Amino acid sequence: MIIKDTNNNDKQKILTNKKRKKNNQYSFDEISLKQNNLKVKNDENLINKERKNNINLNQVNNKNCLDNSRLIITGDYHTHTIYSHGKGDIIDNANFAKEKNLKQLAITDHGFSHLLYGVKREKLSEIKEKIKLAEKQTNLKIYLGVEANFTSCQGDVDVNLEDLKILDILLVGHHRMVKSRLIDKLKLFIPNMIFKNKAYKKLKERNTETVLKAMEKYPIDILTHLNYEMPLDINQIAKKAFETGTYIEINDKKMYFTEEEIKTLIENNVMFILDSDAHKPEHVGIVPNSLQVVEKFNIPIKNIANINKLPVFKKFRKIKNNYEQIDL
Ligand SMILES: [Zn+2]
Ligand SMILES: [Zn+2]
Repeated sequence: MIIKDTNNNDKQKILTNKKRKKNNQYSFDEISLKQNNLKVKNDENLINKERKNNINLNQVNNKNCLDNSRLIITGDYHTHTIYSHGKGDIIDNANFAKEKNLKQLAITDHGFSHLLYGVKREKLSEIKEKIKLAEKQTNLKIYLGVEANFTSCQGDVDVNLEDLKILDILLVGHHRMVKSRLIDKLKLFIPNMIFKNKAYKKLKERNTETVLKAMEKYPIDILTHLNYEMPLDINQIAKKAFETGTYIEINDKKMYFTEEEIKTLIENNVMFILDSDAHKPEHVGIVPNSLQVVEKFNIPIKNIANINKLPVFKKFRKIKNNYEQIDL
């Protein structure tokens, strides 16, 4: 009953917003107030859903969320450096993150199998050392990650067990130009390259199977730029993301969700994360497009892992598949 009411309420909000947007732009504070008003109902909704799913209720902190009146991005968990396709070194990304008042940062260069930009496995320890130094200099928490690639239709991803011991977080996304077997080139990479964002039914099903299998096989923290040149059945992905406690990225450069898909993700109670995907240090922590998406599609703030709170990644959780958060 409550779920139904909330959905109607959301629909009314979207309609009202459409009318209002014709005449004026929202200010930053207006957006957050609007989000917080929605929160009361949505938090009830979340609690009911979480009860149903036996999720730890300590993760939900209504009070903190309701007291906040501004949207504060706390961390950027998808940034590149000279170790793959980025322009700056680790300390440069860290300095800009500090300048943007972030509390946390992740260095997530392209996965090892990327034919053009893949980070070298043997460089991981060097990167880790530089992260330690940058943490000391900036006082930020900096995670070591990679943006790994899907490499096969069987949901393989280009990290191994040894890599996972070294890495703090694991991002996975679809990229072309990845080392793969001929069969996967024919079934996955080439058709998606040809049909890009307009895959036919069979290809969309295969893409979805690939991502679902990867989510079962690997402790994926964040799925990056979903749907980009690899269209998916977002309903199935949303269910698996909630079940596995995987964050869904709203990438500031590549946002390929429809309004309907965003609604599906919200209804399934997934947690989103806003990332810059910065390839230049000066872009770290800058996510204007992602914030616009939050406003446009009325994404509840409680469902965003890095606004007014900090995400907890799988390696650091009590229960790996349950979303956890640190309230600020
Ligand atoms: Zn990417
Ligand atoms: Zn990236």
